[in-house]
Formats: sequence, structure tokens, C-alpha cells
Amino acid sequence: MLNPLTRILVVDGSEVARTIVNRILDEEMPEANITLCGSAAEALERLARDRFDLVTTALMLPDMDGLELSKRVRSHELHRHTPVVVVSGDANERLLREGFAAGVTDYFDKSLGYQAFVDFIRELTRRHQGLVGRVLYVEDSPTTAHHSRRVMEHHGLQVTHCNTAERAIELLAMGAAGGADEDAGYDVVVTDFYLKDRLTGGDLLHAIRTKFRYSQQEMPVLVLTDAQEADRQVEVFHAGANDFVQKPIVEEILIARIRSLLLIKQQFLALKKQNEEMRHLATTDGLTGVHNKRYLIEQGERFLCDRRNLPVSVMLIDIDHFKRLNDTHGHLEGDRVLAAMGGILRTAVREDTLVCRFGGEEFAVLLPRCGLEDACARAEHLRARVEQQRPAGHAITISVGVASSERIPGPDLGGLLAQADQALYHAKNHGRNLVSA
Ligand code: GH3
Ligand code: MG
Ligand code: MG
Repeated sequence: MLNPLTRILVVDGSEVARTIVNRILDEEMPEANITLCGSAAEALERLARDRFDLVTTALMLPDMDGLELSKRVRSHELHRHTPVVVVSGDANERLLREGFAAGVTDYFDKSLGYQAFVDFIRELTRRHQGLVGRVLYVEDSPTTAHHSRRVMEHHGLQVTHCNTAERAIELLAMGAAGGADEDAGYDVVVTDFYLKDRLTGGDLLHAIRTKFRYSQQEMPVLVLTDAQEADRQVEVFHAGANDFVQKPIVEEILIARIRSLLLIKQQFLALKKQNEEMRHLATTDGLTGVHNKRYLIEQGERFLCDRRNLPVSVMLIDIDHFKRLNDTHGHLEGDRVLAAMGGILRTAVREDTLVCRFGGEEFAVLLPRCGLEDACARAEHLRARVEQQRPAGHAITISVGVASSERIPGPDLGGLLAQADQALYHAKNHGRNLVSA
């Protein structure tokens, strides 16, 4: 999420440079609000009046040195943390030696060109923009809580504060109940290590890692501690914290640590999403959107065994005279029919049903908690629905073979499929557009 009001102050003695920078920033970062100044005096005057998110300055200004201007920006109450970038023809030694002390955030080498300059600025504003994330903050001291909460909220964080580890565990449990819903829960936990109630921050950490089974990536934890001693700090890490901040809290340190923990969390979520997408791709048939045969083989047995005590049934569905359709209307039209069939099957079945493409124009449907009679009724319903719905506009019919564990004791997937195949063969031999068991 980009801060839509990126206010940038550009200080440069050269009017040509100012004009070019203004034009290119305007074109490439339309969300940015640019202010141009030709001298340090002018810049300081603007800085005293307005708040800026970023200052860029030439190393040499007509009335002041760029490093001196940087120091002045730093000493200003409004701009203590505003990034300052020095733009110069070459990163000379003085810049490297004195720049840090003068509060310079970064340098840009002008010889790289204006396009590189815009990329650089965009990346910098992205890094310095407000934080986005939900923090669960556990602190029993009202004064510290008030102060830290304000700091975090000032930087854009959404903070939920509580006084005890017990309450934090309750809140985390509520978040965990949200399950896959990414809006539920928290991104980072920030907790005091010493809490007055029965449970300490260490206990909370223990609960986060062992009760909720959150990894350090899934739920990063930052511990606030008064402890100076190395032993205590080691204890914090042993308890499963990602990092710690010593009290009294320094704003920049707290925010920098939270920023890096949020990054870890974001990477975790991105990876998780990617894995889910890959898993989906690997187990789904691209044309019809139902599961593929690989998924059926991998999951089918387990799918049936999980419901051992109740009957399970299987349908094998085969499109009638599909070759004829391909021959008459072409293979691509055949594909459209298959895709439409996938859609009908996915929407027509109960949620606990597993539908997959078994082969070319054949589908297998696994029905848990379903006896033979029920399965036949559902197959008949499907058959009629396909006939009536005309997938992709074609008069298509299907034959269905049904088998159930009621007839073959012990739900063996291979056995059930073989039985269903025989029933399908029977349907094909008795005129097609039929259900047979
Ligand atoms: P029957 O009623 O006996 O099932 O006749 P049929 O023509 O459907 O049976 P057959 O098994 O002889 O033909 C199946 C056809 O399905 C042959 C093949 O070209 C076609 N087919 C298989 N996979 C695809 C596919 O992905 N796309 C298209 N368009 N056709 C496919
Ligand atoms: Mg076939
Ligand atoms: Mg067929």
C-alpha cells in the first residue's frame, strides 16, 4: 500500500536540473507531490512550514553545503526522521566520510541518469512509507503502553493492546479461529517480558510456539525487556522470540524491528499463497477445473477410508459418442464441451464429493456417506441435468456406472472403480444416456 501523499522536497541550485527532476517525477510518480527549491535558505524556510516525506539535495548549493543542509533537516523537530538523499556527480570521499554523521540517508550518483534516479526515489519512498500491519501489544505498565502504542500508531500500525498474557492468549485464539481468513488475527506480537499477572511474556511465547504452533515466520514476536544481561537476552530467544528491544524504548529501534518482522510475515504469507497456488495447479485439471487423476490416486483411498463406517459410492461418467462430436465440430469445440461438463459436475454435487477427470471424456465421482440407492438417484439427477443443460450448446448425453461399498465390503478404491467401470460398460451396451449399477 503506497502512501498517496509522498511529499518530496527537491533542492538544487541548477534550474535545468530542477526542471528535469520535476518533469520526470511528475510523469513517473504521479502520486508524489514535488516542491522545488533553488537554495538552502529557501529549503529551510519550506521545511519550517511543511512536512515532507523525503528531501533530496545537491551536494553543492549556492548558499550552503548539502551536508550542512542535511544536518539542519535532522535538527528540525518535524523532520528528525525524514530521509535525506544527496544527489551528486560522484560519491566523493567526503560524502562517504561525513555523510553519515550529517544524517544523510543515502546518496544518488547523478551520472546514472534520471530514469535511475526515479527508480531510486520510488524504492526509497516504498521503504520509508508507513507500516501496514496488525500488532498485538501486551504491556502491563500503563505509561509504557500509552507511549509505545502512540509510536506504533503514528507509524501506521493497527494496535490491539492488552495488559496480560492470559488476555493475549484469548485474543490469539480468536484470531486463530478465523482460520484461513487472512483478515483474522495479528501479524506481529509485541510483548513485555515481565508481566505482573500469573503468566509472563515468556509463557505467552511458549503458548504461541507450542499451543498455537505458530512458527517464527508465521507469528513473529518482539519482546520488550529491561534486562541488560546477556543471560536474560538468551532466555528471550530460547523462549522463541524473533528479536528484542530494550527499555526504555527508542522509537526508531522499535519501529525498525517491527518493520523487519512485518517483512518476515509478508514473505511468509506470499510463500504460503504461492504454495497453495502450486498445489492447486498440480492437483487440478486445467481444462475442466475438477481434480486430476493424480489427486484421485493420492487422496482417493484416504478420502474413502476416513468414512470407514459409512457406505461410500463411486460414479464413472463417460460422455456418449464424444468422438462423433469431435469429428463433426472439431477438437476445440470438444474441449469447450469438456470444460462445460466440468462446470456442471462441480456445481451439481454435494460439497463433500470429490470430482475428477479420470481420462479423456471420463469423470470419476467419489461420494462419501452415500449408499447405492442414494448414489444411483444422484447419478440419474446428473444424467438428466446434462441432457437438459446442453453443455456448450450441444445435445450431449452421459452414461454413468455406479458402485458402492455396500456391495463390496471394505472400501477399496480400485475395486470400486472396477465395479463402476463394469456398470458403465453395461450402460453403454444398453443404449447409452443411462445410469447402471
Ligand atoms: P462412447 O459413447 O462409446 O463413449 O463413444 P465415444 O466416442 O465417446 O468413445 P471413444 O472412447 O471412442 O472416444 C472418446 C473420444 O474422446 C476420443 C478422443 O479423441 C476424445 N478426447 C479425449 N480427450 C479429449 C480432449 O481432451 N479433448 C477433446 N476434444 N477430445 C478428447
Ligand atoms: Mg471413453
Ligand atoms: Mg465416450
